[in-house]
Amino acid sequence: MPTAMYPGSFDPVTRGHLDIIKRSSKMFDRLIVAVLNNSAKTPLFTVEERVQMLKECCADFPNVEVMGFDGLTVNFAKKNHATVMVRGLRAVTDFEDEIQLAHTNHALMPGIETVFLATSIKWSYLSSTIVREAAHYRHDVSKFVTPNVEAALKKKIEEGKA
Ligand code: ADP
Repeated sequence: MPTAMYPGSFDPVTRGHLDIIKRSSKMFDRLIVAVLNNSAKTPLFTVEERVQMLKECCADFPNVEVMGFDGLTVNFAKKNHATVMVRGLRAVTDFEDEIQLAHTNHALMPGIETVFLATSIKWSYLSSTIVREAAHYRHDVSKFVTPNVEAALKKKIEEGKA
């Protein structure tokens, strides 16, 4: 059974991401949730904060590890012996970017395969951007994120960072 990697920004992790983690953790012996430290984006949460929140959320999944990384995802996958990339597809609008990414990763590292999971309909509209927006305008985000993430968002708002 190959090791799988679920890469993303997770800024912050949503219940949609957790649904993908839960489902894919049943499909592979080992799942690495890889949190990208993307220098091109200015995230709300530092990579350390995002990793910490994900670790709390994944505590009940014994075969899931959470790690931060920078650089190319395929290099990080190779370093950790992961041969499958897991990605979630919310709507047809995700498809174009995701297929380009999958082909690029395969071209860069032919041993890598990408597996797409159709997101649960319940979370198909949800994105980290929506969560950040809603939290910024003081909306209740408990439907979208777990209590630890909700608390972290509140803290950022109080600090005037969100
Ligand atoms: P990225 O910056 O790589 O797009 P994200 O954290 O936004 O990072 O997403 C990581 C992965 O999770 C992507 O495959 C994305 O399609 C998927 N994803 C994002 N939101 C949801 C959701 N609501 N339900 C399921 N999968 C999702």
